[in-house]
Amino acid sequence: MSDPMTPAEWRAALKAEGVPFTELSGWTSRGRDQATGKIFGPVHGSLNHHTAGSDSLQSIAYQGQSAAVPAPLAHAYLPKTGVLVLVADGRANHAGLAARNSWDAIVAEKPIPKPSKASGTVDGNDGLYGIETENRGDGKDTYTREQYDTWVRYNAAICRHHGWTEGSVAGHLETSVEGKVDPAGPVEGYGRRGRFSFTMAQLRADVRERLAHSASWSPPTVEEAPPTMTPAYVNLGLVHSYRLAPGSWDDVEFTQEWTDEPGDHAANSAVFVQGAGRFTGTLSLRFEGLPEGDVVQVRQSEYEGATLKTNHPITEVIGTAGGTYGTVALVNRLGAGRSMRVRLLNQSAEEVEVASAVLKALVWQEG
Ligand SMILES: [Zn+2]
Repeated sequence: MSDPMTPAEWRAALKAEGVPFTELSGWTSRGRDQATGKIFGPVHGSLNHHTAGSDSLQSIAYQGQSAAVPAPLAHAYLPKTGVLVLVADGRANHAGLAARNSWDAIVAEKPIPKPSKASGTVDGNDGLYGIETENRGDGKDTYTREQYDTWVRYNAAICRHHGWTEGSVAGHLETSVEGKVDPAGPVEGYGRRGRFSFTMAQLRADVRERLAHSASWSPPTVEEAPPTMTPAYVNLGLVHSYRLAPGSWDDVEFTQEWTDEPGDHAANSAVFVQGAGRFTGTLSLRFEGLPEGDVVQVRQSEYEGATLKTNHPITEVIGTAGGTYGTVALVNRLGAGRSMRVRLLNQSAEEVEVASAVLKALVWQEG
């Protein structure tokens, strides 16, 4: 049980919580207390709504919904800009009849059951703050990031002021015995979260997260994209052909370097890239003397220094009449301290000539 916030307490709570807000003229004395003879409070929770319209401040503050439901229709109005408007400090016409079972759960800060008219009803306007958040309610109109962020902060500000948990935060659809479905609709995003559908469970989770931090906290936002990196271009080959004996794995030792952007794969080197980094490329091979149907296997192998650490899958180049041509895809990520070699295994009984080996790769060095 708590007394409703005074104007000074509203301002202090919202300011501390980082809620951007303006004050509608006359808000500190606006309310239905006098007209109804029912004093607002004690307060037990924050009831959340969507407007099912746009630009609703005039009707919320002045015009009301109908002769039977006069203004003010909420304590606060939250438009798409995310800049909250304080509308009323007294009793407001937003909640209508609340199911007793839902009301009791909000008071006790327990999970809110489906509202049951049979459990009895309470005038929700007696003790619930009301916020109307601008949204057409057609399932397509989207709450902006700014709007949702303010929405979480607003609810957290109320809870923090009163010492409540997120269990005091409810949605109209959770209390109404008149079939209200608000609030609902898609949300542009919040913190690191992209587009999602509004649910009261999510709003409460976000309020709970805020309350676990100090009031000045802000949710971490989308991480900045890493700077775009232009990959280095590696283009290696052989100055001279060489003979590949049958039966054992043998490094391709590149002896020709057309570009040297990475700068650390020396000529006469089997290492064509060193980690940490990512690369994609192709190795084009030409063999002479590989009998038709015989096979030379090709694979990438990772080393740490001279120690073989990881073998990558094998590609087979199959001998054809005349010279044999093969292309091998090179795509991998290489950890720090690792280097990559290309190795060949001649499975023919014959010695084969490696007439050409051209490696072209784009390399994104990390770190
Ligand atoms: Zn509502």
